[in-house]
Amino acid sequence: MTTQIPEDTMTDEEIMILDSIDKFIETDVRPFVHQLEHDDEYPQKIVDTMKEMGLFGLMIAPEFGGFGVSTLTYARIIEKISTVWMSVAGIINSHMIMAMTVQRCGTEAQKDHYLPKFATGELRGGIGLTEPDAGTDLQAIRTTAVRDGDDYVVNGSKMWITNSGSGNTILLLVKTDTTAEPRHKGMSLLIAEKGDGFIVSKKLEKLGYKGIDSNALTFDGYRVPVDRLIGGVEGVGLKQVLGGLELGRINVAARGVGIAQAALDEAVAYAQTRKTFGKPICEHQAIQLKLGEMTTRTHAARLLTEAAAKAYDRGERCDMEAGMAKYFATEAGLENAIEAMRIFGGYGYSKEYNVERLYRDAPLLTIGEGTNELQRIIIAKQIIARNPA
Ligand SMILES: Cc1cc2nc3c(=O)[nH]c(=O)nc-3n(C[C@H](O)[C@H](O)[C@H](O)COP(=O)(O)OP(=O)(O)OC[C@H]3O[C@@H](n4cnc5c(N)ncnc54)[C@H](O)[C@@H]3O)c2cc1C
Repeated sequence: MTTQIPEDTMTDEEIMILDSIDKFIETDVRPFVHQLEHDDEYPQKIVDTMKEMGLFGLMIAPEFGGFGVSTLTYARIIEKISTVWMSVAGIINSHMIMAMTVQRCGTEAQKDHYLPKFATGELRGGIGLTEPDAGTDLQAIRTTAVRDGDDYVVNGSKMWITNSGSGNTILLLVKTDTTAEPRHKGMSLLIAEKGDGFIVSKKLEKLGYKGIDSNALTFDGYRVPVDRLIGGVEGVGLKQVLGGLELGRINVAARGVGIAQAALDEAVAYAQTRKTFGKPICEHQAIQLKLGEMTTRTHAARLLTEAAAKAYDRGERCDMEAGMAKYFATEAGLENAIEAMRIFGGYGYSKEYNVERLYRDAPLLTIGEGTNELQRIIIAKQIIARNPA
């Protein structure tokens, strides 16, 4: 790789974990990416290996059967995986947000029941927030959960829910009170396992992020036992979800670093072998300017991402730090992917090369886990709030 995660900042345990991730991505992922991606085929064999390795429990506490790695280590793992195939990172990322929300906000009984099953991957899935008419403005969701005896009865629809077809469980954001003001006081979170009335209505076709499934869901009289209400409290669902999104944003930032790094690696190698006008294109100043910017962006994106991860691990408020990391690192991924495509010339547009996939995968990062427009607004509000005149 052209730039590296600094080894002197890693513990021995972290070096060991990252080594095993390297072996996994080189042996079990890289040789199969091209075919799986272009066929948009769910990588079942890779997922089975991830289960055997315990990757679905990376951040889950050891007492519940996980590895309990720090946010920093997790971000480094996600970066590494994303340099090879971002879709594999997506398979664990939203699952991990679901698991960590249960670990942070769940009742003791919910933790005891769900976390060991999440850690092995027996129960696997993601987060169900977005709806056809509500994404950024989550308080506008319309899916309702109405109490009926010992159950909630859920009706409504969700959009873009990743891992909801291949997986079997999602964290579902609902309205338990549609009249509450402010609106978030009527929002709650449920653990929704597949069952009658939980309908995967459509697998959505995407520009990139292939292999992994994102679906439209319909809930039609779907019953959830009341003991699946996260924390056993209604009206705090949005707060519970937003606490988890900081972690989500750090991990999307890590994916951005991975894409930026992969695009840089491809460009550096290609620019030394492709010749025009009698010399390798890396000797033309126009290409050097691109490589200089790409390298700097990758380093800076990694530094911001790791700074946010460390702040999260210290338990500090880090919405601004996670926002800066998410915004900068994902834009770095997108810009590096475009620059790598230009450096490759016509071959960058060919489906035979990885650069074309990086170019299709990168834009999603600027949209998911809070758009980059929203991130800049969060950063601005925080910088003002932290520095009153
Ligand atoms: C491949 C894929 C996978 C996804 N996976 C999941 C998943 O697993 N779970 C899940 O819940 N969701 C998922 N999403 C949904 C994703 O989180 C939303 O698309 C995202 O939050 C944006 O919401 P939206 O699409 O409704 O856009 P909108 O909210 O309609 O935004 C449209 C535009 O308006 C801008 N905008 C909105 N409000 C403001 C404002 N106040 N100020 C300035 N600009 C604003 C936005 O930045 C954007 O540019 C996924 C999406 C994709 C494409």
